[in-house]
Amino acid sequence: MSDRRTIAIAGGGIGGLMAAIALARGGLRVSVFERVGRFAPFGAGIQLSPNASRILYAFGLGKALAQVASEPDGMIVRRGRDARELSRAPLKGYMKQRYGAPYLILHRADLHTILKVAADKEMDVDMQMGAAVADFARHKNGVTVLTERDHQLSEHRVSALIGADGLRSTVRGRMFGNDQPIPAERTAWRALVPADQLPPFFAKNTVGLWLGNDAHLVHYPVRGGSVINVVAIVADAWQTSWSGEGWNAPGDKDELAGRFSAWSPQVRELIDCLPSVSRWALADRKPLRRWGEGEVTLLGDAAHPMLPFLAQGGGMAIEDAMVLGRCLVQGRDIASSLRKYERQRKQRTARVQREARKMSKIYHYGNPMALARDKVLKIKTGQKLVDRYRWIYSHKA
Ligand SMILES: Cc1cc2nc3c(=O)[nH]c(=O)nc-3n(C[C@H](O)[C@H](O)[C@H](O)COP(=O)(O)OP(=O)(O)OC[C@H]3O[C@@H](n4cnc5c(N)ncnc54)[C@H](O)[C@@H]3O)c2cc1C
Repeated sequence: MSDRRTIAIAGGGIGGLMAAIALARGGLRVSVFERVGRFAPFGAGIQLSPNASRILYAFGLGKALAQVASEPDGMIVRRGRDARELSRAPLKGYMKQRYGAPYLILHRADLHTILKVAADKEMDVDMQMGAAVADFARHKNGVTVLTERDHQLSEHRVSALIGADGLRSTVRGRMFGNDQPIPAERTAWRALVPADQLPPFFAKNTVGLWLGNDAHLVHYPVRGGSVINVVAIVADAWQTSWSGEGWNAPGDKDELAGRFSAWSPQVRELIDCLPSVSRWALADRKPLRRWGEGEVTLLGDAAHPMLPFLAQGGGMAIEDAMVLGRCLVQGRDIASSLRKYERQRKQRTARVQREARKMSKIYHYGNPMALARDKVLKIKTGQKLVDRYRWIYSHKA
């Protein structure tokens, strides 16, 4: 494509912003329509494995990342009820040496800010905050996108539309019908707590993973170790009754403590120290057979929402953005470039979606399956545990 026509992106999340940067750097003009008027700093951390971090480095974001992200020494897996160590996997140094890029942990809002600043620096990215994509129509000269801002509708004629509008994507719904996400019957409870308010046990530069019956808990430091990110995921048959409230639905700490009352004293103490908790109803969808039509496609959670058991949703959105950028910038015709992008991404993202579902069961095993799982964890070396996901980490999008 030699002309500079506008590509519209619905959604300014991790995937939408990364796609905007990739497209603009390739010489294309981009309009990002973001529903919210201002990004709120979600209280959560994010892990980025080498398949995703290598892309951020390739886009020259390494310096900004160095200010806010860190490499954990390793991941320690423990049994929830008695804190018994089951496995210890190396991360710092090992991932970079083996997979060519580091494993990073950081505050989600910091990652989002890095992407937003990088997108704002691009002359060819126009960010339209507070503009929700409400509908679109394809025609022979491209796509007309309808946005809504303060109850006012506006039309935008663009050459393509990328739906990067998350789990409950409007673009996906308009293309393929409004099927609902599949509730995982699991709730993620999230909190950020100042490290100096926690027992030293938790203020370490490691990712802690605790496994128990119908629940698991993850913690790791962000912001140079000054804050600890805590995520507890519990089976929750009632989840469907409140799902859809978003990232920051307030949670009741006593309810969370009740769910972990039979766990080790360390975990109970950790929960006791949390200043407040928010909760998020987990859901995913089955892999889609088609992601797009004509000059419209999907990206990130809109295309392949997955459960967070492999910590790969953000990483897959970043990979999508890289591939989309390459296909659109190098392609001659928009529709066929989008189909090429989809062909390159569908199989891999579907595999990660399925693997994340599988892990959601394995993490939450009760006995006797838990005993068998823990035995395998004890036998395998930590490196083997990491390298089991070589197909994820070694990928070069
Ligand atoms: C508990 C939990 C832990 C996680 N941990 C990790 C992790 O460690 N590592 C990792 O890689 N991933 C993790 N993830 C997954 C990751 O957060 C998501 O996969 C990622 O945010 C997807 O990015 P996205 O840009 O596709 O969607 P989103 O981040 O959801 O962004 C979508 C954007 O679109 C906007 N929007 C929605 N509708 C419209 C509309 N109609 N018009 C315009 N804008 C719209 C929204 O406001 C939002 O800004 C985790 C998820 C959960 C729930």
